[in-house]
Amino acid sequence: MYRVRFRTILDFVFPPQCGGCEGIGSGLCDTCLPRGARIERRLPTLTVSALGIYDGALRRAILALKSGRRDVAEAFAERLSARISSNAIAVPVPTTAARRRQRGFDGCELIARLAFGSRVSAGLVQVRGETQRGRGREARLTARQRFIWRGPPLNGARVALIDDVVTTGATLEECARTARCAGGVVTEAVVIATVP
Ligand SMILES: [Zn+2]
Repeated sequence: MYRVRFRTILDFVFPPQCGGCEGIGSGLCDTCLPRGARIERRLPTLTVSALGIYDGALRRAILALKSGRRDVAEAFAERLSARISSNAIAVPVPTTAARRRQRGFDGCELIARLAFGSRVSAGLVQVRGETQRGRGREARLTARQRFIWRGPPLNGARVALIDDVVTTGATLEECARTARCAGGVVTEAVVIATVP
């Protein structure tokens, strides 16, 4: 109750701003909320469904989410909630433990929990932060894996990966491999945005 009143007073003094533009209002305004047809991208072993292109208002909104805007996470979660197979477990792509400590939360996990509730299994853990970009093929193949699975065994369950932005798709493919080693059947991923 007090929390609600406090929020109302805060909103009056500092009106909340849309996560994607200068407009007043919490979450995302009607203009910034991605509404278009979903964009599909094919990766070697995954079909990725994105709400839009990582650009303009959507890019600003994702940065707002990463800075800790829960209202923006809620707006995205609403858009994502119907996007995975009804029998799939939602597995968020994790950020590094260091970044999570620094920000105090993990945006992808928050969105997954808001969108899919009890169907979330946050079993993926990122054990190594550095990216593979710039390394030779040989080094990439022999490098220690970036993710491990610390959740309960997946025992043939369908898994849908959840991430904020897909660029090359290498991270999603690495996560898919890890989840498959834990027994999951992984063919789909849902992201907020994809690079053009
Ligand atoms: Zn807006």
